[in-house]
Amino acid sequence: MSAAYRVIPVFLPMLACPHRCVYCNQYVISGQPKLPSIEEVIALVNRYLKTIPTDCHKRVAFFGGSFTCLPEQVQNRYLDAVQPYLEGGSVEGIQLSTRPDYIDEKILQNLKRKGVSLIELGAQSLDDDILRRSGRGHTVADVENASKLIRQHGIDLGLQMMIGLPGDTKGMSLHTAGQIVAFGASCTRIYPTLVVDGTALADDYRNGKYIPLSLEEAVDWCKDLYRYFQTAGVTVLRVGLHPTKDLREGEHLLAGPFHVSFKELVLTALWRDRIVEQIAREGREDITITVPSGEMNYAVGYGSANRKAFPKAVFVKTCRRCVSINI
Ligand code: SF4
Repeated sequence: MSAAYRVIPVFLPMLACPHRCVYCNQYVISGQPKLPSIEEVIALVNRYLKTIPTDCHKRVAFFGGSFTCLPEQVQNRYLDAVQPYLEGGSVEGIQLSTRPDYIDEKILQNLKRKGVSLIELGAQSLDDDILRRSGRGHTVADVENASKLIRQHGIDLGLQMMIGLPGDTKGMSLHTAGQIVAFGASCTRIYPTLVVDGTALADDYRNGKYIPLSLEEAVDWCKDLYRYFQTAGVTVLRVGLHPTKDLREGEHLLAGPFHVSFKELVLTALWRDRIVEQIAREGREDITITVPSGEMNYAVGYGSANRKAFPKAVFVKTCRRCVSINI
């Protein structure tokens, strides 16, 4: 994606999705069990527009469910609610998330006509065995075909992935990342698999058939994925689930690598690797680490972890325009 967008998020939990992936209980994950009415969507957009600076690019994003599983007239009710903002220029686009097997020519023509500029597909894994064991109900070929169609319609493509699904390995997650790049995604999200009450995965966890990743494993996998995507020019829009009240309080969360500051942990680990590389390169520990503004918290580390681990290192803030650092 070329420019940074501020997103106005509209959550449509479990909206018409006829599937039940082994890990999914959308009522819990989205933290909002009721569907919003059109009036509520309009009120929410108006509320956000008051707080987002006018010079920011803005998109309305339909998250949470599988948008194109809805009948076309219902999709259009939501999309039409946004049209006045698009026409007036206060919002520049619409983005949505959906399943790869609910994309076809007709659906895309309608979405394109209504101003949808980014479609994120829940790919989750690009290994057929993991997809089957996760109850996804689609194949790798479905993701590849949908990705091609979306790009052919001139719509930006996002491919979301999960780590730690049944049968997943670190090598397999890197393979998924490679395929996400190969399929032409401009952005991605990386979600560690959590065990949430009321899911098939919760039963498998209780029966000892599924063991979630530890927090350390999840951070380590995500760190390498993040670095890979950065190198490939794919924007990582999110790492880790949004910490909803339910997840924070752990009421429905049985197990899995959840942390309220998951992204910070991942970027701390990424910077730690970079510092280790610089120390090895310079052959001494009293190094000066140049850090682009906005990334100092990650470089110093969550809970100052990197500052404590490398007490002789000096962290110096630099302007993004002056120094380009590949972390
Ligand atoms: S496709 Fe999405 S909404 Fe449907 S069951 Fe799977 S994760 Fe949940």
